[in-house]
Amino acid sequence: MHTGRFAPTPSGELHLGSLCTALGSYLRARSLGGRWLVRIEDLDQERCRPEHTDSILRVLEAHGLEYDGDVICQSRRRERYLQVLAELKGRDLVYPCSCSRKRIRELGGIYDGYCRNGADPEAARVSMRFRNPGTVCALDDVIRGRITAAPRESSEDFILLRSDGTPAYNLASVVDDHDQGVSEIVRGADLLPVAPRQMNLMHALGYPVPGYLHLPLILADPQHKYSKQNLAPPVSPECPGKNLIAALRCLGQKVPDDLIGAHPEELLRHAVATFTPQAIPTEDIIIPPEDLGSRDR
Ligand code: GLU
Repeated sequence: MHTGRFAPTPSGELHLGSLCTALGSYLRARSLGGRWLVRIEDLDQERCRPEHTDSILRVLEAHGLEYDGDVICQSRRRERYLQVLAELKGRDLVYPCSCSRKRIRELGGIYDGYCRNGADPEAARVSMRFRNPGTVCALDDVIRGRITAAPRESSEDFILLRSDGTPAYNLASVVDDHDQGVSEIVRGADLLPVAPRQMNLMHALGYPVPGYLHLPLILADPQHKYSKQNLAPPVSPECPGKNLIAALRCLGQKVPDDLIGAHPEELLRHAVATFTPQAIPTEDIIIPPEDLGSRDR
């Protein structure tokens, strides 16, 4: 069965950009008669807060975005990620790395495999990296077509376990998408660069590769995406209809005039029935902060 998911990191409340991601993945899954799951990516205990998880789920509910099954939280699945890590280790697909963040920054952010033949034995803490065979470098995106990554990006030996012992996002999300039977990943285009890397991990683990659809980002100006970090205004659960209309427009979906002011359920019914992925823009969308509040018409 077609299965989609929305996988927010609860480091803040939902803003228009994350509502668009939630709505885009919901519409895609529901328009194909599929399941839609919600997964909370809360491994980073420093950035994530349980109150944000609660508020995200409340806002989804207020907008009529009903999910299937139980919400899973990554913080409760550590053992599972460590089990997969052990499996990879047993196949010599993991190695310890003692390189500093500074060194990697100096490399331009992409790791060069320096510790492949051994980490510094004196290092106080090491991270664990994927010995990436780099088999896959291209993906087919539903709206963007074939995307080929630079080999040094797709075959990067990325981190699986951070030096503080926390499983990394790339490991956890690959394992979860597999375990939850996700057949298509719909998410923000900021994650496009990591998709080929994640596909290499799926390949190494023998997991089927899902489909992909990367949604446009909503930017405050050409350089800044709205994010929890730059304190994007949270979407209010008080005006779900207005928020849904703003998000539908960002996704290039038509909203007939007679649905303005309609109940969220009615809006969503219409949006599911008429969902047109090809109308979703592939360019980022710029909405200056002062225009955010006035997008209800
Ligand atoms: N947790 C990520 C975020 O909130 C999304 C990860 C994904 O969809 O793979 O940006």
